[in-house]
Amino acid sequence: MKWNTFPVEVVFSRKETPAILHLGFRRADGQPFQFQAGQFINLHFDRDGAPAHRSYSVANAPGESDVFEIAISPVQGGLATRALGSARPGDQLTASGPYGRFVLKDDPPCRLILVGTGTGITPYRAMLPSLVRRVASEGFRAHVLLGVWRRDETLFAGDFLAARDTHGIDFTACYSREFPDQPDEWEHSGYVQTAFENLGLHPESDIVYLCGNPGMVDAAAAWLKERDFGSRQVRREKYVSARN
Ligand SMILES: Cc1cc2nc3c(=O)[nH]c(=O)nc-3n(C[C@H](O)[C@H](O)[C@H](O)COP(=O)(O)OP(=O)(O)OC[C@H]3O[C@@H](n4cnc5c(N)ncnc54)[C@H](O)[C@@H]3O)c2cc1C
Repeated sequence: MKWNTFPVEVVFSRKETPAILHLGFRRADGQPFQFQAGQFINLHFDRDGAPAHRSYSVANAPGESDVFEIAISPVQGGLATRALGSARPGDQLTASGPYGRFVLKDDPPCRLILVGTGTGITPYRAMLPSLVRRVASEGFRAHVLLGVWRRDETLFAGDFLAARDTHGIDFTACYSREFPDQPDEWEHSGYVQTAFENLGLHPESDIVYLCGNPGMVDAAAAWLKERDFGSRQVRREKYVSARN
């Protein structure tokens, strides 16, 4: 496949949680990078002379600045993990995109249930300004559910809690391995699917977005199908690993 690639420069690199790396890039060819919230980019690498690429959801909203952000969860021995882990401001990489249809659609007012495991939360961070607008003036409701092992992995929780406090966008963090002794009311013990029970989900009033770990996406989609959710009401983005 011929990719329409362009050079990007690393603007910042910082740890957002003890494990997850948050990177900002800007196109290095002077062109704007235009995308829709929820889309992803590809980063291209050379592996022993052979081309390889890895995909990353854009983690910030379009139109905010010329910087676009990603968050990467490290994988031991991973090609991109190694390259991005050592990337410093000013370094250049090769990118292509944006790609993908995991975006907000022109739906009638409903409740949007936005579910992500780990870095699968990032598309919803990019969607926040659109969600705020829809909730404030278009009759929507929105509930973001983040699934991680434990509290110190709650990626971008501060942004979602601020959106909850200021704009009424609900947020729940679900911990599958370790539950804090003194949980806040936005913290839930168990896989994200187990939090569905508390939400009174209904196919006539809810549209569900699922992003991240393929196991979670499949399990949640199966749970929803059993409750009469059709393909129109369930949208998915699986973070499958690359084959090269
Ligand atoms: C549409 C899309 C969007 C994505 N968005 C993001 C994103 O925003 N953030 C993000 O961190 N990732 C995202 N991913 C996953 C990402 O593209 C890479 O697969 C991931 O970063 C690992 O790449 P790597 O080169 O470091 O590891 P690789 O070189 O691909 O893998 C190294 C080894 O680890 C195994 N492995 C790979 N992934 C996992 C895993 N999750 N768990 C256990 N073992 C694994 C591989 O099978 C291989 O044996 C996305 C994937 C897709 C398809």
